[in-house]
Amino acid sequence: MPAMKHLVKGTSRYRHFINGDFVDSTAKEWLEVENPATGAVIASVPNGSEEDADRALVAAERAQPAWEALPPVERGRLLQALARLILENRERLAQVVIAEQGKPLGEARGEIEGTALYLTYAAEEARRITGDILPSDNADEQIWIERVAHGVVVALTAWNYPAALMTRKLGPALIAGNTVVVKSHEGTPLSALEIAGLAQQVGFPAGVINVVSGTGTGIGAALVRHPIPRLITLTGSVRAGKEIFRAAADDLKLLRLELGGKAPFIVAEDADIGAAVRAAVLSRFENCGQICICNERMYLHRRIADEFLDKFVRAVEALKVGDPTTLVDVGPKFSGPELAKVEAMVDAAVGAGAEVLTGGKRLTEGAFARGHWFAPTVLKVADNHMAIMQDEIFGPVVPAITVGDFDEGLKLANESRYGLSAYVFTKDMRRLMRLIRELKFGEIYVNRPGGDAVHAHHAGLRNSGIGGEDGKYGLDAYFQKKTIYVNYA
Ligand code: NAD
Repeated sequence: MPAMKHLVKGTSRYRHFINGDFVDSTAKEWLEVENPATGAVIASVPNGSEEDADRALVAAERAQPAWEALPPVERGRLLQALARLILENRERLAQVVIAEQGKPLGEARGEIEGTALYLTYAAEEARRITGDILPSDNADEQIWIERVAHGVVVALTAWNYPAALMTRKLGPALIAGNTVVVKSHEGTPLSALEIAGLAQQVGFPAGVINVVSGTGTGIGAALVRHPIPRLITLTGSVRAGKEIFRAAADDLKLLRLELGGKAPFIVAEDADIGAAVRAAVLSRFENCGQICICNERMYLHRRIADEFLDKFVRAVEALKVGDPTTLVDVGPKFSGPELAKVEAMVDAAVGAGAEVLTGGKRLTEGAFARGHWFAPTVLKVADNHMAIMQDEIFGPVVPAITVGDFDEGLKLANESRYGLSAYVFTKDMRRLMRLIRELKFGEIYVNRPGGDAVHAHHAGLRNSGIGGEDGKYGLDAYFQKKTIYVNYA
């Protein structure tokens, strides 16, 4: 087993993982990684260069044919082994996630369990990589449709789940026979490099998994522009999705873009109010509101609006905000710019007439003197066109509107550029059947909080993306189809 050399000797500087080994970047620039709870610099990573992108992609390309030639079950065994090692390292990896991203301990442990689950689920698909055999219109002839790998995949991930978003792409890409170059977000690059270290211990063939670090406009763009990868899979912002869409056009690369959301949370007059309040709190404040499927705006039937808001505000005020290395409910915002963005959105909403029911400002006193903290916030607004109702907040803030009836809630929910997830609380089956047809969102949660399943399908409509992940449809994206006409006369 080659020695693990994550770090430049005697420093907290990480290195790229390319072709089975930790290597230095050709760039002599470093990016600092900050702990969101304290503002302290905890490590640095290479600000990868175009040459680094080329090195990683060439290694992936060289490794791909032999990887695809392995029986899928053998590929699955390596994925299972990596999943086991991730779980054995659960506490250590959870601390890495907390340190670079800021989610509370319980959630960080959950993320690491999910990180392993994406791999074991993909591994279980090894014996289900099927094709089709069709009768031909000609005598003594068959038509075969086979699913084969694309080749090299570039995986770009967001900062809110730095470990799980990596294996959500890695698992299906690898079981399908592709090799991969991963680039995590520049603010949270450590989990992916730590997982690369575990992949090295497991003994994946060199070049099958490569992990590099750097900015989106630097090494990220270089990976997208490069002629080697056929498929680019991104989890990130709509802005990055559009830039990558444009950049990928020259070579007609295939894209999977999992982008932002602005989930409506509709509460009808017949809803179980207690259950709706609990779900609305969890679905907004988990990971400090930094989940693409979070409850971003609430539509409350006029008959239950006061009761709902009263209970909701009390539940929000009871949330424990604090040190994410402990079992609190809400940690810090991920970064200074992210905190400033949320603050500006709240200030603009208040300036435009929103009423602050609780919170509404940064937390700066005592334990909150360092790091990036915002008070859990509830706003009452009257106009669905306000920016706070239309733009993704991605923080611990939720606006609510009172609606006259269910139809109005449905109409306002659909008035959005986004189409990722939506929440509805009602006991009326006829309404549910209507929702399926009329709500323009890819993932709808009925009478429950958010949280997607590894074997379902997570896909955004409209500006929330093109593609989709998880389950059989997510896996299918990592194959291309070849059709073979076989005449045996
Ligand atoms: P981001 O778009 O800034 O970055 C995502 C990744 O893309 C990073 O690795 C970044 O370096 C890279 N990147 C950025 N611009 C690039 C370019 N031009 N070329 C190549 N690479 C580029 O997003 P973020 O701030 O990390 O993530 C937050 C967003 O992600 C939110 O909008 C959130 O809703 C969304 N998100 C979506 C899902 C989903 O499954 N739909 C899941 C998690 C997060």
